[in-house]
Amino acid sequence: MSDRAPNAAHPRVYLETYGCQMNVADSQTVSAVLRRAGYVTADGVEDADVVLLNTCAIREHAEEKVLHRLRELARLKNSRPEVKIGLLGCMAQHNRGAIMEKAAFLDVVAGPDSYRRLPEMIGSAGFDPSIDVRLDRAETYADITPDYGGGVRAYVTAMRGCDKFCAFCVVPYTRGRERSIPPADLMREVGELAARGVKEVVLLGQTVNAYRFGETDFGALLKMIATINGIERIRFTSPHPSDTTESLIEAMATESKVMPQLHLPIQSGSDRILAAMERGYTVAEYLDLVARVRSAIPGVAISTDIIVGFHGEEDSDFEATTAIMREVGYDSAFMFKYSVREHTRAFRLGDSVSEEDKGRRLIALIALQEEMSLARNRAMIGREFAVLVEGAARRGRGMVSGKTPQFKTAIFAGAEGVRAGDTVNVRVDSATGHSLMCSIA
Ligand code: SAM
Ligand code: SF4
Repeated sequence: MSDRAPNAAHPRVYLETYGCQMNVADSQTVSAVLRRAGYVTADGVEDADVVLLNTCAIREHAEEKVLHRLRELARLKNSRPEVKIGLLGCMAQHNRGAIMEKAAFLDVVAGPDSYRRLPEMIGSAGFDPSIDVRLDRAETYADITPDYGGGVRAYVTAMRGCDKFCAFCVVPYTRGRERSIPPADLMREVGELAARGVKEVVLLGQTVNAYRFGETDFGALLKMIATINGIERIRFTSPHPSDTTESLIEAMATESKVMPQLHLPIQSGSDRILAAMERGYTVAEYLDLVARVRSAIPGVAISTDIIVGFHGEEDSDFEATTAIMREVGYDSAFMFKYSVREHTRAFRLGDSVSEEDKGRRLIALIALQEEMSLARNRAMIGREFAVLVEGAARRGRGMVSGKTPQFKTAIFAGAEGVRAGDTVNVRVDSATGHSLMCSIA
C-alpha cells in the first residue's frame, strides 16, 4: 500500500498478521484490495482509521494471542469509537459466534474468501457489524496482484484450501475446498516479480503439491515457473506426503532451479495414531517416500511437522515417533502439542493425554531434533554451497546472511560489492543447530 498523506478519501488502515505464510500472503492480497479502494497504510493502531487482524485458528494458543490483542483493541475502541476494527481469516471463519460474544465491538468479520468485498464491508459497518464468512470454492484472487514486500524472495499462493480433512485439523473448515490458481496467472505474477528483481519464489498452499489445473500438475507447474528468466530459485510449502508424486520428484531431480529442500510433515511415527489422524499413509509408505526422494535428489534437506499428544497417544506411540525421527534424520522440524479444535473429526474423540505428558513429550522431541539438526549441520563443515544473499546478518558488523539451496541460514563476512540478490559460493567453517558460519570460497 502507498503512504500518501491521509484524508477522508484515503482512510488509513493498519493490518496485523498472525499465523502461517499463507496468512502473510493473504494479507498482501488484502492490502492490494484496500489500496485499489483508496486506503493508505497507517504507521500503527494510534493513527489508523481501520485496524484489521488477519488471524489463525490452527491451535488454541494461536487464538489466545488474538483474543489478548482484541482485549487491548477494546480499549482503543472505547477511546476512539470511530475507529473500525475487523477480524479476518481463519478465526473469523472458525468461530465467529464465540468471537462476537467476546468482542462485541468488532465492526467487520471476514473469512478468507471474502477479502474482495472488504472495502464495501468496512464502508457499510455501522451499528451492526459487517459479517461475511461464506466460503467460495471459486475464489482464488487470481486477478489481484498482492502487495509484495521487498526482498529477494517472494511468497506466491499457488492453491487455496484443503480437501484432506485430517482428523485434528481446522484448515478444511476455515479455508474451504481445494482450488488451484491458473498457471497463466501464476506465470504472469512470477514474471512481474522477476522484473522487479525477485530471485526466489516460494509457491504456497496448505497442500501445495495437490496443485492441479487441467493437465498441469505440480511437477509440471514447477517446470513452467522455472522457464521464467530472472527467477533463480524455486521452493514450495507445505507439501503433503500423499501428493508427493513421481512427477514432483522428477521435477525436483531434473530442474536445477527447484531447490533440494522438501518439507514432509509426518505428524506421528505410530501407524495406530496416523490412522486415527486420518493422514492417509503408513509409516512404511512414508519411509519408502523418503528413500525415493533421497535417491532421486542427492543432498536434499528434509523437514517435518510433528504433533505430540494426539488423543490416544501412549508412551509407546511417542517412542515410535522418536524412533522415526532418528531413522529419517530431519534437517529441522516444527513440533506441536495437540490442541483439540471444535468442528474437526477428532473433536468428539476428546483429549486423552494430559497437558503434563504433552509438555514432557514435546520437550523431549525438541531436544532430540536440536541434537540432530546440530549433527546434520556439522556434517556440512568443509563443504561448499551457493548462497543467495539476503542482506546484513542480524549480528556481527559486516556480516551478511542468506540461504543455501537446502534453505539453511549461512552467515559470512561480506566482501566488497556483495549485495542482496547475489549468489556467492561459500565454504562452511562451523555450525550451530540453526546456522552455518561460512567464508567466501
Ligand atoms: N497441510 C500441511 C500438512 O498436512 O502436511 C500442514 C499445514 S498445518 C497449517 C501446519 C501444521 O500444524 C500441521 O502439519 C500440524 O503439525 C499442525 N497442526 C494442525 N492442526 C493441529 C492441532 N489441532 N494441534 C496441533 N497441531 C496442529
Ligand atoms: Fe490440515 Fe491435513 Fe489439510 Fe494439512 S493436509 S491443512 S494438516 S487437513
